[in-house]
Amino acid sequence: MAKEFYIAAEDCLACGSCAELCPDCFRFEEGAMEHAEVTSFDCPEEKVQEAMDNCPGQCIFWKE
Ligand code: SF4
Repeated sequence: MAKEFYIAAEDCLACGSCAELCPDCFRFEEGAMEHAEVTSFDCPEEKVQEAMDNCPGQCIFWKE
């Protein structure tokens, strides 16, 4: 099973970077959403990790 992860929405800066890097698992629509959301866990772990590493809010985390 794919490793699960989440966005701590209160820290999301609504930059859209995660959705650009990994559009299959993150969604963000500028103007329509106040923060990004997770839409699927079915993404390569390295893509999710890349989104985490590039998140300016440092608010994407692996679930324990
Ligand atoms: S990269 Fe981080 S701060 Fe930017 S939209 Fe995604 S979760 Fe929010």
